[in-house]
Amino acid sequence: MPEGHSVHRIARQFGANFVGSAAAVTSPQGRFEVGAAELDGREITSSEAIGKHLLLGFDGTASAPERVLHVHLGIYGAWDFAGAISVDPTILASRAAVGAARMGQTGMRGVGGAGTDGENEESIASIGAPRLARLRAGEQETLAEPAAFPPEPVGQVRVRILTETAVADLRGPTVCEVLEPAQVRALAQRLGPDPEAPTESRAKAEARFVERASRSNQPIGQLLMDQSVVAGIGNVYRAELLFRARIDPHRPGSRLTSDELRALWRDWVKLLRIGVETGQMLTIDGLRGAKRAAALANRADRHWVYKREGLPCRRCGATIVLETMQGRKLYRCPGCQL
Ligand SMILES: [Zn+2]
Repeated sequence: MPEGHSVHRIARQFGANFVGSAAAVTSPQGRFEVGAAELDGREITSSEAIGKHLLLGFDGTASAPERVLHVHLGIYGAWDFAGAISVDPTILASRAAVGAARMGQTGMRGVGGAGTDGENEESIASIGAPRLARLRAGEQETLAEPAAFPPEPVGQVRVRILTETAVADLRGPTVCEVLEPAQVRALAQRLGPDPEAPTESRAKAEARFVERASRSNQPIGQLLMDQSVVAGIGNVYRAELLFRARIDPHRPGSRLTSDELRALWRDWVKLLRIGVETGQMLTIDGLRGAKRAAALANRADRHWVYKREGLPCRRCGATIVLETMQGRKLYRCPGCQL
């Protein structure tokens, strides 16, 4: 399932190449005809992600108030972008890192883009110049050669968003619905904090996470997956964050010190930012050169414990354990995580 970094990258793609344009909105598959008709012809005014939720704002008209398209990809959902789009929606911080990312097998192989000259070194929000391409963005991102524009919708396209220069097709989402602004505010209040969401300050987000986690007797491994405690973490980041903090996933939230909870949050802020920048859940940080390139290219070189059951811990040598927590696979090191 796409974790929070993927949804933020999709939001940036919309922000770069769709916001500010009027869109023809249709449901080629037919399952979203009423919602699509409500949005059709309006200008897209905003694109945000909160956790795993994408929120696309559509301008109001004389006869109809503004509306928001809410999408949750779930396990199988994906967006296909085509036309003049940003194939590298975020720019890595350094020239070396850009080179490494392009070698990624599942990422941006062989793709040129802005940023190599250093002009975009500052901002995570800066993007490559739009170019003709096709890009699938779900759990992974994959590129294809551009085809005729707009391409025929293929398969079960729930919603198609078409501007003069770009198109986005959504397939297989868990949620695809039209919301009123008040409903979006209610959704944001139900969700836990997301450090990359624009809804609150970093300090407030951190305080909210610490408060919610510390008052719960549920295991911290469960709390990190609870979208009302922190929005955007999935199975990979859960396992890796707890390993990095050397915390046993079974410890109740109420038994963690506020220092431990703050450190967990700050590590999440850091890992999420790397994920948004690289498009990969790169949880072994501090890698340089060939090691970083290998980690970006291969999942086996990217993680401490995720999918490493039965293998020796990279830090202490103990055998990584796989167990089940609330029906989801949980990976941990019995030597490091106490
Ligand atoms: Zn270990």
